[in-house]
Amino acid sequence: MIIGIDDTDSIDGMCTTYLLAVLIGKLNAFGHLKDYPLLVRLNPNIKYKTRGNAALAMDIELNDRNASQKVRDLVIDIVERMAVLSEENTNPGIVFIENSTDSMKNDLSKFSMGAVRDVLEIREAMEILNRHDISHKGFKNERGLIGALAAAGFALCGLPDHTYELIAYREQKNWGSSREIDPGSVYAADAATHPDTWDTVDIENQRIVFAPHSPDPILFGIRGNSEEAVRRAFSMIKSEPVERYVVYKTNQNTDMHLIKAKIHEVKEDRSYILEGIVGKSPKTIIGGHIIFKLSENDTSIECIAFEPTKGFRRIIRELRAGDEVKVFGSVKDRTLNLEKIKIDRLNMQELRNPMCCDKRMKSMGKEQGYRCEKCGAIKQEQELETLQRKISAGFYEVPPCARRHLSKPLARFPLRQEGA
Ligand code: ATP
Repeated sequence: MIIGIDDTDSIDGMCTTYLLAVLIGKLNAFGHLKDYPLLVRLNPNIKYKTRGNAALAMDIELNDRNASQKVRDLVIDIVERMAVLSEENTNPGIVFIENSTDSMKNDLSKFSMGAVRDVLEIREAMEILNRHDISHKGFKNERGLIGALAAAGFALCGLPDHTYELIAYREQKNWGSSREIDPGSVYAADAATHPDTWDTVDIENQRIVFAPHSPDPILFGIRGNSEEAVRRAFSMIKSEPVERYVVYKTNQNTDMHLIKAKIHEVKEDRSYILEGIVGKSPKTIIGGHIIFKLSENDTSIECIAFEPTKGFRRIIRELRAGDEVKVFGSVKDRTLNLEKIKIDRLNMQELRNPMCCDKRMKSMGKEQGYRCEKCGAIKQEQELETLQRKISAGFYEVPPCARRHLSKPLARFPLRQEGA
């Protein structure tokens, strides 16, 4: 039986992954998990999300087929008791898939991918649930059925690419207090297991990034390429007591949210890989964000590197008009929020006002030519000059402290070319 669950938490506490971790313990009496539990990240731009737009699923082989009703009742009971139903924005959904058909798989593979890349309606989840007679339970406005069905769909159809996350949970008496984790052990665990694990620490910015600061039950999460790698790092961490931990299979750090598209095809609240030419030199705006225009034929889009992307902005600041790049990120308010950039070709030449007497000549007005302010010499045209560039072509990414859940780190690109 596949069980999909979503939307049980609030910003002040709880976490759907913790609910699933508790549920896994309770379901041991009824059967065993056929595969890792799934932690899927859906469209990062969905306005209803609490934090990281996570949804969960697991596939359990029941010891006794007749136990299915008991299991459904148990899951519903736990969600009713643990979900923060008093929170307006918490609308849980639970989906149970017991038998599947090719047509159900077909619908679900499209729906699940749509939940990661697109913006869906509750109605679309309902249509599939009803068409295939899938057992489900929605609470309040039932929005959680979208995520629950998407996660169940991935459990049924598989993930095209996956990574692992080991999440360790705190003892309940510690929820809300500051987390006790020995920093030295975290840096040592990272040093011993990177690049098979990542985003545990941010070396450049001297930060531990694997532990949240919110009052939820998560102590920390270790992300990596294999169960072996995340367990090895886990074994090295010294911290307050861990109540329980779960190793999830996940679509995190796979770039599953990115759609290859042309600038004119871009829609709000989706994430893209776009190709184009840098319009003008980037500008720094209030707040320390860096912005530039990317153009392709007659269309263009603003791209932004926000202040929290720290050193990544140094690269963006050095772009110049004419550079050929691919940008990776989510679009909001007609602006692409940069997660990565691939500089395919740097423009090494630029038209500039001619030099005279060791200074740039001044323009005398549109199509009026250029004049030297010192000796009065006049020239009609700008001149092509070779640019001194401080960056080289290549792939650049935001640092771990600014990485979004779905964003694939460069360490996971075998040839640093793939996807580009
Ligand atoms: P956390 O990360 O702390 O578990 P969350 O960020 O996952 O919280 P939820 O509380 O699950 O946020 O809220 C997200 C809501 O948006 C859910 O109801 C989910 O069904 C819905 N949703 C997810 N993806 C989409 C989508 N692509 N289109 C429309 N609704 C979506």
